[in-house]
Amino acid sequence: MGLRFEVSATSPTGGRRAALHIPHGTVQTPVFMPVGTAATVKTVQQDTLEHIGASGAGAEIILANTYHLYLRPGHQLIRRMGGLHRFMSWPRPLLTDSGGFQVFSLAKLRKITPAGVEFRSHLDGSKHFFSPEHSIDVQIALGADIIMAFDECVETPATWERTRDSMGLTHAWAARSLAYFAAHKHEVPWSIESATKAGAPHLASEMWDTQSFENRTQSLFGIVQGGMYADLRRESAERLVEMDFDGYAIGGLAVGEPRDVTREMIARTLEILPRDKPRYVMGVGYPDEIEEYARMGVDTMDCVLPTRAARHGLLFRAPEPGEESSTDQPRTLKKADDPGCPTHAGPIGMSGMSEETETASRTAVRMNIKRLEYAEDQRPIDPTCSCLVCRRYTRAYLRHLFMAKEPLGLTLNSIHNLSFYLDTMSRVRAELAGLSREQAAAWLKDSRDEFDQTVRDPWA
Ligand SMILES: [Zn+2]
Repeated sequence: MGLRFEVSATSPTGGRRAALHIPHGTVQTPVFMPVGTAATVKTVQQDTLEHIGASGAGAEIILANTYHLYLRPGHQLIRRMGGLHRFMSWPRPLLTDSGGFQVFSLAKLRKITPAGVEFRSHLDGSKHFFSPEHSIDVQIALGADIIMAFDECVETPATWERTRDSMGLTHAWAARSLAYFAAHKHEVPWSIESATKAGAPHLASEMWDTQSFENRTQSLFGIVQGGMYADLRRESAERLVEMDFDGYAIGGLAVGEPRDVTREMIARTLEILPRDKPRYVMGVGYPDEIEEYARMGVDTMDCVLPTRAARHGLLFRAPEPGEESSTDQPRTLKKADDPGCPTHAGPIGMSGMSEETETASRTAVRMNIKRLEYAEDQRPIDPTCSCLVCRRYTRAYLRHLFMAKEPLGLTLNSIHNLSFYLDTMSRVRAELAGLSREQAAAWLKDSRDEFDQTVRDPWA
């Protein structure tokens, strides 16, 4: 069995409160998944990831990139190490993408045929070939709980005809991904025997012994494409639903299009996707975006934005009372400021963002820790946040670390931003379960206070 998806409440706007049971644990949804491109969420170690967020429950699932891990250190090496969970010592759920997005955005000299894609590595120029079968084979070797069908990502903007042809290729590849997965899913490297055989006895420790994977398999999601055309999105969703995947992703969005187009494409697709299976929008977004899509009925999302912004000194925080209505704030996110989410650690920088100082949305303000005004600011990043960083460090110290290019600054910024994203989703889940906004905020505060009592006061 792959996954079990239990919906416990549905809101009038379509948002779902659910539990996603997968082999390495249960994920409470809607959920935001931090991106761990090269088997690491950049600058944040695994045991910290297990405790970020208000309740201290940490990230329940993270994402890793097939393309990057295939090139370095190689999927066969990771298979020999007992799979990605053991290799990176992350006992909780993992998701891998198919590598398609990176092949189309990072790799050089691509040659696309119905058979697959030939490309050259962005690292050393070496030649490689990815077919749907090969992508699934690599993802089985990595052993994430959820894996993705291999798809073609069309360039943006693209004509209707070009998008339709690309979508046709994605559907053919989806069927081949599914067939290969059905025949090979038992080859996943999860057993204790494979860890011991790999010559790493500590990997067969109690952290793993308690997990039973008997009769458990990975789950395969299909990816809806169709560019910015509602009719193609609907057709793509219908075709993939006919193929009967374990869950469905909506790909090819947040690539520079206006946000109302993103929202429209998601809404048209959600109408077609079955209500009893998980739905995943790849590569979004800002805090107010993930909240909005969760309320529409999206169950999982991922984005490099919180960690990438953190490494640029850009921190998300809740607006202060009155801040939203002042003349200077909020400035809604202008398209020119919006880098989209170049989903999977693509090469696009934070253009616009790094120049921007503070931008407010309904649920988040973005602050630039480099600004001189924080040089002697004794407050935490966000006085309402009780993440590991806000309960201990001042803006002044974080600014100093960033200006002095100290690596710890990048780590602390990343921990706070990820906590902000996870807390946003905790609040949305509480509201979808029936709490009012005020009750949800109070509940979040209670879980913070409870967690506070378990954390040692550094001055005691
Ligand atoms: Zn914080």
